[in-house]
Order: sequence, then C-alpha cells, then structure tokens
Amino acid sequence: MQAYICTACGTQYPPRETPPPLCSICADERQFVPTTGQGWTSLEKLRVSHFNAYREHEPNLIGIGTQPVFAIGQRALLICTPAGNVLWDCISLLDGATITLIKALGGLKAIAISHPHFYTSMAEWARAFAAPVHVHAADRNWIMRPDPALKFWDGERHELAPGLTLIRCGGHFAGGSALHWAGGAGGRGVLCTADMATVNMDRKSFTFMRSYPNMIPLSAKQVEAIGAALEPFNFDRVYSHFFDRIIDTGAKQILRQSVARYVGAINGAYDAS
Ligand SMILES: [Zn+2]
Ligand SMILES: [Zn+2]
Repeated sequence: MQAYICTACGTQYPPRETPPPLCSICADERQFVPTTGQGWTSLEKLRVSHFNAYREHEPNLIGIGTQPVFAIGQRALLICTPAGNVLWDCISLLDGATITLIKALGGLKAIAISHPHFYTSMAEWARAFAAPVHVHAADRNWIMRPDPALKFWDGERHELAPGLTLIRCGGHFAGGSALHWAGGAGGRGVLCTADMATVNMDRKSFTFMRSYPNMIPLSAKQVEAIGAALEPFNFDRVYSHFFDRIIDTGAKQILRQSVARYVGAINGAYDAS
C-alpha cells in the first residue's frame, strides 16, 4: 500500500495498491494532465530525490519550498507569532529537516490552506505536528485524502489566533481564502493571498483567474467581491503563491488599482487600443 502523490500537482491520495487512474485535481479544467501522462511518486521517494529550502522573508515569516521545484512549485509560509505558529498553505514534501526546524521554533498551532492546489500532503503535516488543518467548507469536495485533522470553516472570516484571520475571497475556487497577519511587515500588516489575488511578474500589480494554466478569467462581479473581502483589512505587503511573487509595500492601493484595471479590461477599456 502506498499513499501516491501526483507529480503534476503534488496532491497525495489515500494508501492503495496501485496508483489512481487519474488525478482529479489535474483533470479539473483549472489544471492539466501533462503531455507525458499522469505520473506518481511517494513521500518516501520524494525524500530521496528532493529536499526543502527555506527563505526568511521578514522576521517571523519563513517560506518553505521544495528543491528541485516539484509539482506546481508550491511553497508554504511559516508565520511565528506570540499566539502560536501557523503554517499557511502546504507542500507535498515533508522531510526530516523541516520537522526538526519547525519543532525547534515551537511547532505548529494550526495549518490553514488557501485552496485545493495547496492541499498536497496536508494529512502528513497534520500528523507530524499534531495540528488541525483549516480549509474552507466550500472546497471540501476537492479533498482527495480525508483526515480527522481537517477542520472545515464556513462563512466569510475565521480567526485562527489573535491577529491571524482567514478571509474567504472566492473566485479561483469557491472557498479560496487569504490569510491576514496584522503584526506582519513591521505592524503595517501582511496579506497572504496565494493565487486568489496573484502578484504578477511585474510585482506591481495583481490578477485574478479561475485557471492560470488554461487562462480562464473570472467575472467582474467575482473580482470586485475579492477586492471587497480584503478591503476592511490593513496591509502593506502581500505574499502570493511563489517565493518571488511579493509586493513589498503599498500593496493595498495596488490591489484596489488592479481590481479596477481588471474590471475595466473585461468591460472593454482596451477595446480601442
Ligand atoms: Zn494532479
Ligand atoms: Zn491555484
């Protein structure tokens, strides 16, 4: 029996004798099955072929990603606060060094995940740190490996700990969420948006999509709803879904401008250009 992990998207499945015929996350219109077909590995194999790397983005916030890049290239963020440590988003590979380092920093009070592309091997992380995994109930049908550690939250907001709030954005996924860390960026506030609001390559703007690889846009209504959900929070910095997708300062104003640009674009603002 083997808990197979999809090499294209990083999702782990419950233990079984043979690999699943198809990965439901890859088969969804938001992702894709590689031209070489569906491939599978396991945590045991990943621990031999890959390792995790760490980047301290700012005090008390460390990015954790796998090298060489695996699956979608997901990376998790470890946020350390006086109220406890939280892992935001998740990655497939949980290795010995990562367990040792996180435990040395005080372990995890909770794991919270933005949307199904980061569910990866969340059950393994929950077990290693005896931590609950918070996911939005609207996305529960995308859970491939059910586990008693999964805690479903509903509605628009959920406070993990003082100063750490989950915010439902929707759009990319119905339950797609962001994490607000009030104490981040020297007290100016940090927002971790994954790809609910994606920091673009220019690191001066955001975009919003149902599918990034297959380029399926969202509606104006959905993007305005993302802007409205995030508007009440104070934040200066945004960490998106990859190591280098960060808007260091002025992110709130940039988010407002990006929502307006997106809505304008799909309503014809560029028609004459
Ligand atoms: Zn997959
Ligand atoms: Zn995604």
